Amino acid sequence: MAILHNRVSQEELKKRLFEETEFRITVSFYQYFFIEDPKAFRDNLYVGLNELRVFGRIYVANEGINAQVSIPESNFEQFRQYLYSFPPLDGLRLNVAVDDDGKSFWVLKIKVREKIVADGINDPDFDMANRGKYVNAEAFNRLTEDPDTVVVDMRNHYEYEVGHFENAIEIPSDTFREQLPMAAEMLAENKDKNIIMYCTGGIRCEKASAYMLHRGFKNVFHLEGGIIHYANKVKEQQLPNKFHGKNFVFDERLGERISDEIISKCHQCGEPADTHTNCKNEGCHLLFIQCEACAEKHAGCCSQACHDVILLPEEEQKILRKGIDKGRMVFNKSRQRLRPRLNEEI
Ligand SMILES: [Zn+2]
Ligand SMILES: [Zn+2]
Repeated sequence: MAILHNRVSQEELKKRLFEETEFRITVSFYQYFFIEDPKAFRDNLYVGLNELRVFGRIYVANEGINAQVSIPESNFEQFRQYLYSFPPLDGLRLNVAVDDDGKSFWVLKIKVREKIVADGINDPDFDMANRGKYVNAEAFNRLTEDPDTVVVDMRNHYEYEVGHFENAIEIPSDTFREQLPMAAEMLAENKDKNIIMYCTGGIRCEKASAYMLHRGFKNVFHLEGGIIHYANKVKEQQLPNKFHGKNFVFDERLGERISDEIISKCHQCGEPADTHTNCKNEGCHLLFIQCEACAEKHAGCCSQACHDVILLPEEEQKILRKGIDKGRMVFNKSRQRLRPRLNEEI
């Protein structure tokens, strides 16, 4: 029987990766399509990709596939052909990570999940096959000139805060599952307008577009490949750039500048700033925007209380951290609810 899981220790695998001399290409891709038996699909995929020495993280669900993988350069063409041999994946756009050293993954993990993007939708009539129309960068620009178009940002509030499209509406929620019904309610008066949804890489807005159609909206579009693809196309085709500020991405840089404008403010002093950071107090770890001057003044902490904590000996800090549930600590300027919680805890 074929081996369907890795059986070597993590440490050994990591060591092997760093001993590899061949360059790895890191790509991400997703596709919504109906998978009758995700478990069987997963096992089959594992065998195929394992042979090509692919590493990474893949989610498979009834509604499709979402993947972030690295492939040895010499296997890349074979990998592409293998992927394209699945009819629903034929011709799929593979997003190559530009400044990745290919060392992010040292094992292949393919997990079966209920959904590839958690959406909280339980309605059996909801159908991902019925989704909005794709717009490319050029069509996006053209359509947003139309006064009968509403642009909707389907990312988190902290992503919107540092950068977004001109006139885009923010759906002020912490989670995607809350955002979906909220978007439909906020736009209830605009059922006959053009609705364009966008997100970072396209996976969320594509689902959101299906949801809006499900809720009775007629002219729903979504931005192909999200902000990342748009930014590349705008540069390549020298189109006007309608995205202002920074594109928030989850990696060490916490953001990639698309235009020179700084549209947000430091959460501490209110001066223009768009650098996200996590509070240096490990017991806090709050995600917030901090300017350089404040970073220096508060030693990278979000508050005086946290600054005081990091000056304590590590042992005392450990005691303070005990029993604190950090949850998803994100500075939310629309609610300010994390601040009091933070102060209570410390
Ligand atoms: Zn500041
Ligand atoms: Zn803090």
